[in-house]
Amino acid sequence: MKIIMLGAPGAGKGTQAKMIAERYQIPHISTGDIFRANIKNGTQLGMEAKKYMDQGLLVPDELTVKILLDRVAQEDCKNGYVLDGFPRTIPQAEVLDKALAELGEAIDYAINVDVPDENIVRRMSGRRACLSCGATYHVEHIPPKQEGVCDNCGQALVLRDDDKPETVQNRLKVYHEQTQPLIDFYTAKGVLKTVDGTVDMKDVFEAIVSILK
Ligand code: ADP
Ligand code: AMP
Repeated sequence: MKIIMLGAPGAGKGTQAKMIAERYQIPHISTGDIFRANIKNGTQLGMEAKKYMDQGLLVPDELTVKILLDRVAQEDCKNGYVLDGFPRTIPQAEVLDKALAELGEAIDYAINVDVPDENIVRRMSGRRACLSCGATYHVEHIPPKQEGVCDNCGQALVLRDDDKPETVQNRLKVYHEQTQPLIDFYTAKGVLKTVDGTVDMKDVFEAIVSILK
């Protein structure tokens, strides 16, 4: 099963993608996590990506597409995967589509997690991330057991540099201009499913599971 998560930054794509990955035993692939791991390790790719990420801009397609295609070609992806944060532009979606078509494959579901802009800034300022294992929390809605500490791996939680309110506004603008057109793209392919992302995360997940059945 090949699934794409669509939605504004902070809509809950990562939260749901992790639950889907666990339930269906498929890898969760987040291009944002891949970039953040590269930044943490000080790689060339990480340094290049950081220039864009810190401004709330998209990393250029040339850099992003190659990373993603290499990742989905790995052995653990043979039974499917859930993509979180890719594609984010029509050219990215076209490249993915073409690469899959060459293998006689296609995306099965594009799940659009719908959250209005008004809710997003609040969500992002409360988000706390573990840069070690990729877990995500929210100070009010989904708090860790111990404040500031990751439940999974015990590392310190951080407010991501790009979750500051001024950067979030930019990311929302970029989302509407460059990523939202993907809703029409996947609607035309007959695979788009929209869920209400404003309800409790367990209820969002139930809605997704009933679609995937
Ligand atoms: P995205 O991957 O779309 O950027 P995240 O999954 O990281 O978004 O979620 C953004 C923030 O909102 C996180 O702090 C997360 O814990 C919180 N969150 C996710 N789903 C919900 C929900 N249904 N209700 C309230 N908060 C949520
Ligand atoms: P995310 O963790 O998905 O919120 O992504 C964080 C940041 O990484 C984005 O704001 C972009 O700068 C960059 N990024 C992640 N995925 C992509 C992508 N598919 N295309 C371009 N930039 C991306």
